Amino acid sequence: MAFTRATGKHRRPSRLTRKSASMAGVAALATTGVIGGLASPALAADTTADAAHTVQDTGLTEAIVIGDSLADEIAAQADQQKRAAAKAEAARKAEAERKAEAKRKAEAKAKAEAEARAKKEREEHAAKERAARAAERKRLNSYTLPVAGSVVTTGYKTGGNLWSSGSHSGVDFRAASGSSVVSVGAGTVVEAGWGGAYGNNIVIRMNDGTYTQYGHLSSIGVSVGQAVTSGQQIGVSGSTGNSTGPHLHFEARTSPEYGSDMDPVAYLRAHGVNV
Ligand SMILES: [Zn+2]
Repeated sequence: MAFTRATGKHRRPSRLTRKSASMAGVAALATTGVIGGLASPALAADTTADAAHTVQDTGLTEAIVIGDSLADEIAAQADQQKRAAAKAEAARKAEAERKAEAKRKAEAKAKAEAEARAKKEREEHAAKERAARAAERKRLNSYTLPVAGSVVTTGYKTGGNLWSSGSHSGVDFRAASGSSVVSVGAGTVVEAGWGGAYGNNIVIRMNDGTYTQYGHLSSIGVSVGQAVTSGQQIGVSGSTGNSTGPHLHFEARTSPEYGSDMDPVAYLRAHGVNV
């Protein structure tokens, strides 16, 4: 191909100029050698009339067609790549946001669970304390036999000349000498000492306002004014006073005085004692 001064006779500069721009773009994108060659600005600028014209009419026309198509295609491709990149970026952001949201949710869940555990522990602790207080109240308010495992050997109001009133003012519990005698419930000692026919005896004012009495003791272990709990030992059984043998005489009363007696078995049963 000869490159000489152009005559201008067959030049079509406007078209060539227009196309050279897109051709140059094509060349810059490193496409085929043919297009690259045709895209040379020299071709557009200076060509001999005949030789260049032939090239222009054949190669260029074809190149122009190819150029248009490729440029469009490349532009479309670039657009597509941009869109794909934008789409990928949007997807990446959405994924990052999704992960952040999942993390926030997991943290909130863990916090809620920890709070629920703490609340449950507090409630369980409070329930245990309530149960312990209830058990203590029950223990304090519960009643028991005055001699563990004993039975009544002589009933209430039993007649006979052994008793000054003509009938038994309490009940007798079987108790070998030296058996532990306990308060049947919580109360305060109001009498502790010699009681005549009762021998060594104790009277306790119970917390519910009633009284209990324990007689014929071999020894007394409490003093007047002393508070006692249910089941607490107050003395030791014996046969002191008007007694024919070791046992515990037990009375339930409405007052500390002799003669205010009530049925001791019914009294103990009313307080939940199995007798
Ligand atoms: Zn008796």
